[in-house]
Amino acid sequence: MNWNKSYVRHRPLLEADYKRKPRLKKRQGHRPAVMPILMLMIVILTGVVIASVSLKKPAIEKSTLETSNLVSMTNEIIALPPLDSSLLISPAVVGSAVNSKSSAIKPQPDSILAGAIEAKITTESVTIRKGDTLSALFSQRRYQTELHDILALGHSTSKLREIHPGQTIDFKTKGSALASIKLVLDPLHSLEIIKDANGYSVLEHQRSFDRRSKMAFATIDSSLYLAGQSVGLSDKIIMQLAIIFGWDIDFALDIRNGDRFSVIYEQLYLEGQQVKDGVILAAEFVNAGRSYRAVRYTDTNGNIDYYSENGHSMRKPFLRTPVDFARVSSGFNLKRRHPVLNTIRAHRGVDYAAASGTPIKAAGDGKIIHRGNKGGYGRTIILQHGSQYSTLYAHMRRYSNHLKVGSRVKQGQIIGYVGSSGLATGPHLHYEFRINGVHRNPLTVKLPDAQPLARAALQRFKGETQERFVQLELFSSTRIAQFAQ
Ligand SMILES: [Zn+2]
Repeated sequence: MNWNKSYVRHRPLLEADYKRKPRLKKRQGHRPAVMPILMLMIVILTGVVIASVSLKKPAIEKSTLETSNLVSMTNEIIALPPLDSSLLISPAVVGSAVNSKSSAIKPQPDSILAGAIEAKITTESVTIRKGDTLSALFSQRRYQTELHDILALGHSTSKLREIHPGQTIDFKTKGSALASIKLVLDPLHSLEIIKDANGYSVLEHQRSFDRRSKMAFATIDSSLYLAGQSVGLSDKIIMQLAIIFGWDIDFALDIRNGDRFSVIYEQLYLEGQQVKDGVILAAEFVNAGRSYRAVRYTDTNGNIDYYSENGHSMRKPFLRTPVDFARVSSGFNLKRRHPVLNTIRAHRGVDYAAASGTPIKAAGDGKIIHRGNKGGYGRTIILQHGSQYSTLYAHMRRYSNHLKVGSRVKQGQIIGYVGSSGLATGPHLHYEFRINGVHRNPLTVKLPDAQPLARAALQRFKGETQERFVQLELFSSTRIAQFAQ
């Protein structure tokens, strides 16, 4: 019905057109003024021509198209296309289109008319780009006064002052007046400021992710990374796996054909859409026939860590390798010919070749008991860890600032940088590991386990994680059974 009203509204223009020129030529004649509208007409007309070939189904498609146009009419003044296009086609087809439309959508003429009369509400969504300022964004839209008033609200709107590229601001206007703005701070937080007759109100919206757990299983024929990719794991999850099990398994050297893993991890959803991966909840890695299992657990102090079934942290008191991006250039060998001295000399440590300046990390929590030149070792640091263990780091280019004998260091803390001080053929770290004063091979020594949870904490741990380990076990065994078939 409203369709007819609109027809009347636009009729004079179209009749004038008809008098001057035949239909198709007319379009070109009006190109400069109504080009976009004519383009749309052509599209619709094409659809209708198809409709006239096969009447029933395409007519419904057309009605869908018109529905969307009618809806947009209440917001913006582009009501022309559906009407004009109907005038350009044969009466028979118009009839079928009208019929299908009225049966398909049953429009409410009054509401649509009312929408057209009332001030239009429009929303403009602006993505903030580098260099954009709040005042520029508002003054481009002639809302300097509004911005002033909004910022005068004080603390509640102060986040507006910290906009940064990638965020979006929605400007909602009613007629030409600002109705509200909404700043999306991040996927979970937004700030909405609504203007009405009484002034401004500020709303802080917060949502949270919907967490769903997912499982994956893979066997490894080349690397952990490729195996993870092959079952659709993101880099983030693969990296987490490597970190959790990296204390027990050297993923560069220890991986064997047929190693496998199972992982239960989280995927984070917002409004039904998967946004990103969360954390690993539990995982099993089988390396050379030996199974390692870990579960994520938050203790009573709120500390989060991964633990084995018996309540030991997966994190060991010692790093296996105190330098990243290094390769073993010389192993532990009690009968090695010294490369500089050219004599048989025991090599009681491991050499890691690395670029000069590569950071050296403390293998474990400890105390510096030596810092300084030590003969052929050059610049050297020795750390004491508890009563039994000590580690030595030699040939350093320099030490980390502020470290001296007696300083306490944390595991992973950078204590110095790779160099070639002392008797060295090139930049490398010479690393030694001693237990009760005896040199041990850092590559093969059985590193001590982390302290287990205390008894009460262990009970709580077992109670809360048992189900997760069972879930992991069930999942692994079913997948292995499937794999074997
Ligand atoms: Zn060495």
